[in-house]
Amino acid sequence: MFLIQCLLQKHAKMNKIVLLVHGGAGPDSKFIKENIAAYNEGLEEALNAGYTILEAGGSALDAVEAAVNYLEDNEIFNAGRGSALNEKAEVEMDASIMNGKDQSLGAVAIVKNVKNPVTLARAVMEKSKHTYMGGAGAKAFAESINLEMRPEEYFITDHALEQLQEAKEENGEELEVAGIKQRSHGTVGAVALDKDGNLAAATSTGGIENKMEGRIADSSMTGIGSYANNKTCAVSGTGDGEYLMQNVMAFHISALMEYKGLPLKEACSYLMHEKLKDVKGDMGIIALDAKGNFAMEYNSARMHRGWKTSDGEHGVKIYE
Ligand code: ASP
Repeated sequence: MFLIQCLLQKHAKMNKIVLLVHGGAGPDSKFIKENIAAYNEGLEEALNAGYTILEAGGSALDAVEAAVNYLEDNEIFNAGRGSALNEKAEVEMDASIMNGKDQSLGAVAIVKNVKNPVTLARAVMEKSKHTYMGGAGAKAFAESINLEMRPEEYFITDHALEQLQEAKEENGEELEVAGIKQRSHGTVGAVALDKDGNLAAATSTGGIENKMEGRIADSSMTGIGSYANNKTCAVSGTGDGEYLMQNVMAFHISALMEYKGLPLKEACSYLMHEKLKDVKGDMGIIALDAKGNFAMEYNSARMHRGWKTSDGEHGVKIYE
């Protein structure tokens, strides 16, 4: 009887599926407060989009792509439609995806007109001979493989225009913190564990409003915005990109687990709240290991986040 119970438990554990999503970490705002219901609904829909795939036996990679695609299409988040605008009021998007099974990865930067940049990142991984593409070449590649394209107007929302206007009106004081005042923080990301025990991570962003033309977000960088390795964890990061880059956020969590044997939650908590406690920028991460343990840590006023597991844990949150 005891043996059967053990075997049943082991089987149940092996088949655990998990999806985590985020919609950015950063300062609170009037806009966020006024739109809590819409944000929560968006996070819930993103969970549904990815979790349905995992439940049907699909891969972690498909699940994170689907969850992020949903968030890219939802204009309330700063990725795809609704992206933050650069100093010229133009959209330039960055995204990355990584497969924990074989650590294959794809990334794109300064992308224009591509409806779902994370799908382009996956295409770079699977259909090109390269890993990281940017600018006009990335767009031409998207067109050559018939990805969905949209005119510039599709991506530009009234909210993004207002945010750009406000950023331009700010005086220089706050701009000094990281070189650029960052308010949007609606970057999106997902990490997943599928029934075969594979992990994947994906992240997509419009970046920060009023950024210089050509500025690239950490979200597209492997080991910072996204990282996945079945041996350790899958991570998607958000926050002040310049600080996330300095601290190579996502990979550090994996390294703490691999080199020091730290459990996932400890690794995340140590990095965010001890090692980097004096960092002035906003940082947030969602992270998941191959056993289905997960962590959602941030040092900012809020992080939009959602989780769903086959153990029945399920929720969305913006604040504590
Ligand atoms: N990390 C993103 C960037 O620096 C912003 C964010 O996560 O909200 O562009």
